[in-house]
Amino acid sequence: MVVNYWLALLFISFFGCCVGSFLNVCIYRLPPNLSVAYPRSFCPRCSNPIRAYDNIPLLSYLFLRGRCRHCGEKISWRYPLVEALTGGFALALFLKFGLSLSFFSFFAFVAAMVVITFIDLDHRIILDVISLSGIGIGVLVAILGPTLTVKNSWPSPRYLPRVKQFLSLKLLAAWFMYQWLDCYRRRA
Ligand SMILES: [Zn+2]
Repeated sequence: MVVNYWLALLFISFFGCCVGSFLNVCIYRLPPNLSVAYPRSFCPRCSNPIRAYDNIPLLSYLFLRGRCRHCGEKISWRYPLVEALTGGFALALFLKFGLSLSFFSFFAFVAAMVVITFIDLDHRIILDVISLSGIGIGVLVAILGPTLTVKNSWPSPRYLPRVKQFLSLKLLAAWFMYQWLDCYRRRA
């Protein structure tokens, strides 16, 4: 029983890493509008296709010591980082929700966030294909799911005073900033 549980945790983490491996492909291929399905992954330097046994999340990177098997080109540390990150999120969500619709809906959300974050870091853009389809999926899941509802999008009344406080501080800061910049502009 206990062994099964640890095996399940290991499996979910590995599943997350595999999804992370696919997210890497999305991060690099979506901005230039390339297909995420074809062609298979290849080394950008020697163009050799990456074989299945060299494409195992995390493990292959460690085994190949971060270099291409054929030409020795360094593989970016971001590949294993995105894989580990996604694996970690999968594990955390599984521990919270178990294997449920909530797990899959939150995991899809997190995966979209990972792709958005890294594309944003590289290109300073958030692609419509992720954000707009995310809205559609979000509404659908809110209708189907028991935990993720439209109500979750609003702060609970308990936190409302704090949210208001935060917003007013932000507005105040923005007002000061504006005054300061305006002062500067007039002097110039
Ligand atoms: Zn190579």
